[in-house]
Amino acid sequence: MFPLQVNKKMGIITGRTKIVGVFGYPIAHSLSPHMHNAVFKELNLDFIYLAFEVKPENLSSAIKSISALNMYGINLTIPHKEACLPYLDEITKEAKLIGAVNTIEVRHLGSRAVHLSSQSSGQVRLIGHNTDALGFIRSLKESKISIKGKKILLLGAGGAGKSISFALALNNANEIYIVNRTLEKAKILAENLKKKLNFKRVSVISFEHTSLKNIMKTTDIIINATSAGMKNQDSVPVPVDYLNKKTIVYDLIYNPATTKLLKLANEKGCRTFNGESMLVHQGAIAFEIWTKLKAPVNLMRKALRKALNV
Ligand code: NAP
Repeated sequence: MFPLQVNKKMGIITGRTKIVGVFGYPIAHSLSPHMHNAVFKELNLDFIYLAFEVKPENLSSAIKSISALNMYGINLTIPHKEACLPYLDEITKEAKLIGAVNTIEVRHLGSRAVHLSSQSSGQVRLIGHNTDALGFIRSLKESKISIKGKKILLLGAGGAGKSISFALALNNANEIYIVNRTLEKAKILAENLKKKLNFKRVSVISFEHTSLKNIMKTTDIIINATSAGMKNQDSVPVPVDYLNKKTIVYDLIYNPATTKLLKLANEKGCRTFNGESMLVHQGAIAFEIWTKLKAPVNLMRKALRKALNV
């Protein structure tokens, strides 16, 4: 830990205020400013978190602006998590494996003192991290759930599905079954797990395949990383009739807080989780990367719930 400058009159932005934020398109819906600004205020840290609407064609100039404007760190969300890779100076091992970055750390070459100064003019390196995967694992740990040795059914092979699948393999899942509407994407993901991690216990099945119901009956954890159930709240990605009550059901969606999948799984007697905790933890890890302070996770959760009205 190091002494960060505090602003005794928080809420007043000065020439010393450090800027962090998120690049995305669209971005107005982002809940990250609520979580981070609540923490900065509570801890009296002279930081502000802003949401920047960055169109895909402007991503490269937006990333250049991080050092040009002496920003302190940036989150990336849809559609920039993969597109940003060529513009970064370094990418952590996990982010490279996953092929997606959601947090940029601005590392100043030279002394910490230079880093902390708002007058910093030293050289900087932009380091790409993926806090989604670790955020997911921390959210499970919080509920004392381990991935090790588990049979897991992963629904979805988009950005989130990719991060989760690597987190599962890196945390020694026993078997991973990936289901995706576009089967080809699930196949590519499974191949990547095999090639990049030498993780062989991965299979791909279609939503329509008859073996899905048997897998559902015997799986330890089902993770929904599709957006089914988010906008169309009647949509359920898998036939819940085959759910076993011993199965843990984790839906990455956090808004609505209870998707139809989670409601039906609850009725079956399953232990269920929504995406709130993962969202909080991925933000908490980004906070820690930027400030080197331990994140007040519960405070971030409270701010998120307030923003979500739950
Ligand atoms: P994405 O890259 O756009 O991927 C969307 C995924 O959902 C793809 O697998 C897509 O299948 C599938 N899908 C979409 N509509 C579907 C439908 N009607 N039926 C079945 N599958 C459908 O998005 P993402 O970033 O991976 O996000 C996926 C979900 O995770 C979103 O709900 C997002 O809010 C949530 N998420 C939560 C957190 C968190 O911190 N809690 C973090 C990231 C994402 P195709 O490949 O066939 O299109």
